Amino acid sequence: MDLAALRTAVSGSVLAAEDQGWDAARNSHAGLGRPDVIVRVDSLDDVSEAVRFAAAGHREVVVRAGGHSAWCTLDDGVLVDLTALDSVEVVEDPDGGALVRIGGGARWGDVARVLSDRGLGISSGDTASVGVGGLTLGGGIGLMVRAWGLAADQLVGAQLVTAQGEVVEVTDASHPDLLWALRGGGGNFGIVTRFDFRAHDLSGVVLAELGVSGNARPILAALRDVLADAPRELTVTFMDVPAMDPNAPAGASIVAVWAGSDEEALRAALAPLLTVEGVVLNDLAARVYPDILLDHPVPEPEQQMPGFLGGNTLLPELDDDAIDALVSFRESTPASVLLLRSLGGAFGDVPQDATPFPARNATWFAMAGAFDIPGLVDDAQRARLEEAWAAIEARGAGVYGNFSTTTDPAFAERMYPAGTMARLAAVKATWDPRNVFARNHNVVPA
Ligand SMILES: Cc1cc2nc3c(=O)[nH]c(=O)nc-3n(C[C@H](O)[C@H](O)[C@H](O)COP(=O)(O)OP(=O)(O)OC[C@H]3O[C@@H](n4cnc5c(N)ncnc54)[C@H](O)[C@@H]3O)c2cc1C
Repeated sequence: MDLAALRTAVSGSVLAAEDQGWDAARNSHAGLGRPDVIVRVDSLDDVSEAVRFAAAGHREVVVRAGGHSAWCTLDDGVLVDLTALDSVEVVEDPDGGALVRIGGGARWGDVARVLSDRGLGISSGDTASVGVGGLTLGGGIGLMVRAWGLAADQLVGAQLVTAQGEVVEVTDASHPDLLWALRGGGGNFGIVTRFDFRAHDLSGVVLAELGVSGNARPILAALRDVLADAPRELTVTFMDVPAMDPNAPAGASIVAVWAGSDEEALRAALAPLLTVEGVVLNDLAARVYPDILLDHPVPEPEQQMPGFLGGNTLLPELDDDAIDALVSFRESTPASVLLLRSLGGAFGDVPQDATPFPARNATWFAMAGAFDIPGLVDDAQRARLEEAWAAIEARGAGVYGNFSTTTDPAFAERMYPAGTMARLAAVKATWDPRNVFARNHNVVPA
C-alpha cells in the first residue's frame, strides 16, 4: 500500500512531512519527533490500515496515546496517533460490579471525570494528561496503588490490532498469555484500541498536603513506619524538587491520598507523622478524584528536556541506610529530584507470576535524578552521581520502565527477571514475530 492508498483507506487524517499540519501534529508532551507519516486514526479500521501500511513498508510503528513517553520524540516510522479513540463507557460486569471500556487513546483525567460522576474509580497515575495506554501497559503506579494495586491489575480484557492488522478480543478465557503480557509488558504485542477495566466503588477521596523542612531522614523514617501499619486506603508520595516550573512548587512535601471520604481516618493515620519535627499539615480535605490529578502542559516545541543522571528502583525495604543514600543523592546537587511512593497493600497481594511487573515484594518505589545540564555538571560530578545511584539501585528488586526516559533497546532486559522475559518473548513471537512494534521497552521475539 502506498501513501495515496493509505489516505483513501482511512477516515482519520494522514500527514507526511510535506503536509500542512504535520509539524503541529508531531509535537507531544515529551517533545518533538520526526515521523515519516502520522496517521491520526478515528476508528478501529484506521488502526488496522495504519499497521498494514507500516508492516508492508517494513517501517516501525510509533504508538501515541497520552504522548508522555520518549518514543514519541524519535525519528522515522509511522506514528499512529490514537488521541481520537477516547471513549469511556461504563457497563455492568456479569460477575457483579462495573466494567469500564476505555478507548486506546484516552487520558486518565477524562476517565476519572466520567467515573467520579458515577461513584466509581480506577487506580490511575497522578497526572490527568497521561494516557491510559502507556501507563496501563507498563503497569501504572497510582494514587490508590495500596488500595487497588496497579492500573494493570485492574485490566480484565482488551481489543487489540495485531502486527498483521487483525482485530483480536483478548480475555483471560480467550488469550490468557496475551492478557498476562498486556499487564506490564508494554506496547510490544499490538495496538490496544480498547481497554476493559474492573472499576471500584469510590465515594470520594481525602487529600492531605504536608510541608516538610529540615533533615528529611527522620521524616522519611517516620513516614515508612506509618505506612508499615497503615490501612491500605492510604497511599503517599514524598517529593523533593528544585524550582523547575510554576506548577510544581520547589522543596519537599508529602501528599497523602485516602481512597474513600473518611477525613478522620486519614487524620488518624497521619497523626504519628505530625509529631516529627519539620512536618506540618497544610491541608486535609475531602475532594473528588479527578480534581486531585495534576496537569502537565504540552511544552513549547523548541523546549529541550535536559538529560537525567540516576534512575528508579523498586525497594523491598526502605531501611535507614536506603533513606540516607537517597537523601544524600538529593543533597549532593541542587538540580535534582527525589520521589518516593508507597507500595505494599493490594500491590503486594498480586502473585509475582500473575503479571510481568517486577518486584511485587517492593514496599516503596524510589526515583532520584539529577539534571545533566551542560556547564553545570562536570565529568567528576557525573561519575560521583552515577556511583551514588548504582549503590541505591543495588538495594532494589527491579526497575519500573514507565518512569525511565531511556529508549535504549537493551533496557527491557534490565526491567524483567529472566523467566518473565522468556515468557514475554514467547508471547511476542506469537503475536509480533517481525517486531513491528519495537518502539517501546522492546521484547525481542523468541
Ligand atoms: C508528567 C508525568 C506524570 C506521570 N505520572 C505517572 C504516575 O503517576 N504513575 C505511573 O505509573 N507513571 C507515570 N508516568 C509515566 C507514564 O506512565 C509513562 O510516561 C507512560 O508511557 C505514558 O503513557 P502515555 O500513553 O501518556 O504515553 P505515550 O508516549 O503515548 O505511550 C507510551 C508507549 O506506550 C505504548 N502505548 C500507549 N498506548 C498504547 C496502546 N493503546 N496500544 C499499544 N501501545 C500503546 C507505546 O509503546 C507507546 O510508545 C508519568 C509520566 C509523566 C510525563
